[in-house]
Amino acid sequence: MLKGLMQDRPLLISSLLEHAASFHPDAEIVSRTSEGPLHRCTYADIHRRAKQVANALTALGVAAGDRIATLAWNGYRHMELYYGVSGMGAVLHTINPRLFPEQIEYIVNHAEDRILFFDLSFVPLVEALASKMTTVCGFVVMTERAHLPDCSIPGLLCYEDLLGAQASDYAWPRFDETTASSLCYTSGTTGNPKGVLYSHRSSVLHSWAACSVDGLAIGASETVLLVVPMFHVNAWGMPYAGAMSGARLVMPGPALDGRSVYELMRDEKVTLALGVPTVWLMLLQHVDSKGLKPKDELCLRRVVIGGSSAPRAMSERFETDFGAFVVHAWGMTEMSPLGTVCNLLPRHSGCTLEQRLSIQEKQGRAVYGVEMKIVDDEGVSLPHNGMASGHLLVRGPWIAGVYFRDEGSPTLDAEGFFDTGDVASIDADGYMQITDRAKDVIKSGGEWISSIALENAAIAHPAVAEAAVIGVAHAKWQERPLLIVVRKPGQDLTRASMLAFMTGRVATWWLPDDVVFVDELPHSATGKLQKMKLRKMFNDYRLPSA
Ligand code: ADP
Repeated sequence: MLKGLMQDRPLLISSLLEHAASFHPDAEIVSRTSEGPLHRCTYADIHRRAKQVANALTALGVAAGDRIATLAWNGYRHMELYYGVSGMGAVLHTINPRLFPEQIEYIVNHAEDRILFFDLSFVPLVEALASKMTTVCGFVVMTERAHLPDCSIPGLLCYEDLLGAQASDYAWPRFDETTASSLCYTSGTTGNPKGVLYSHRSSVLHSWAACSVDGLAIGASETVLLVVPMFHVNAWGMPYAGAMSGARLVMPGPALDGRSVYELMRDEKVTLALGVPTVWLMLLQHVDSKGLKPKDELCLRRVVIGGSSAPRAMSERFETDFGAFVVHAWGMTEMSPLGTVCNLLPRHSGCTLEQRLSIQEKQGRAVYGVEMKIVDDEGVSLPHNGMASGHLLVRGPWIAGVYFRDEGSPTLDAEGFFDTGDVASIDADGYMQITDRAKDVIKSGGEWISSIALENAAIAHPAVAEAAVIGVAHAKWQERPLLIVVRKPGQDLTRASMLAFMTGRVATWWLPDDVVFVDELPHSATGKLQKMKLRKMFNDYRLPSA
């Protein structure tokens, strides 16, 4: 082999912010704060203060590799920690505050976090858990002295005091790009949460993919609203992609209700917004209830939807009422998270809206860096014909190899592919479509029924607010689908009219055996439907056909 002669510069997270501070110093970071008002700063400010964070951590005795935890909403201080902590060689551990307190306690102790930074909203939570977080030796509340809470947290430190005492000159250290940068635990729908330990290299490579035109196309001309939280897979990598591209970032803080999100979009002239379907449902409900005209009031051009499947009806609403294109995307914590993005190909340019929406229902094509295959139960690869569906496996430089300090780590197959736990098909153009989570698929008479396809068919009914489908035991068929529906306020939808609506939209033998109506559906800490809980709730349910 002849070795190339190019410079060997490590891919480090600090270089992203240095670039932004040099070439996009005035690009804004707008944050809604826990204290109330909007806060405005720039990449240059974040750079200066991230250096103060690094100095403050050094003064507190933090060493390379130490885990530094956050319990925080999306905002500029959280962004400073993203860069200050990882930049100095420590590991940023973002904790999802919506997890059960026992899970948070488990995660902090498992990660052996040394310092915990938290927003004012989480003072009661930290107060309750402080004595059980055995490795944490410093608690820092992310506010200024005037807002310091009166509480029992031992040796409570104030973020602004901590930074104020530090100089803003700091030389980011140069180290190996495979060094750990941040840590995120999966919500652990089964068993204990598992830690995914990202590296500087994986984060920078992922960021390039996110910025690329056929990725999420993040650039300096975008104003990006991060509705997806910074405690959920690094807000899909946007704090890094933002700095790489110089995009203007808008952070909603704790206010994720429809009205707050709408007003932020309008007032800050947001062009691109990212989030899970649940938050968009709240936004659409707000628009409906107030009779708003988003097309006239907003500058929104694109909405990235991931985390759960983007229903066709939702993509259509964004298209017609907002004039915004829905970019459907798929990924997971173990994938940093970007796997596929649903952008169109040149040959789709003449498509009608109906045809286009059928493409947008799919989760999209792999971005460069992600290899995908679908296999049957025996691990044999299945064809990419849009029909065959099987276990979805992935491989790539920003995909987890093993979990952090876990013996039962992901078992990669012989070719080094990771099993996502999703079931999917891939069509001849490379568009992947999730049919189900492997554990949610409904097994009827030896055939598989996709719960997601049924949910999408049900949600298309104008009187349906939300829908879930689970498999219920059946003597003859093993399992049959049960449809659980939340009606929109004031709608009197019946079982018969629901089933009539779905007839013709899905294969006849897929039609749910029964429909029940509930006031609300259970959601996980990351906004996903909790099918396990639903299955428990309907454990003794007797289908009329059974
Ligand atoms: P959690 O911590 O809840 O596991 P993740 O974000 O890691 O959160 O969840 C990843 C899973 O979410 C995927 O394996 C897949 O099942 C589901 N998912 C993500 N995006 C989509 C999508 N666009 N459509 C359908 N399911 C999705």
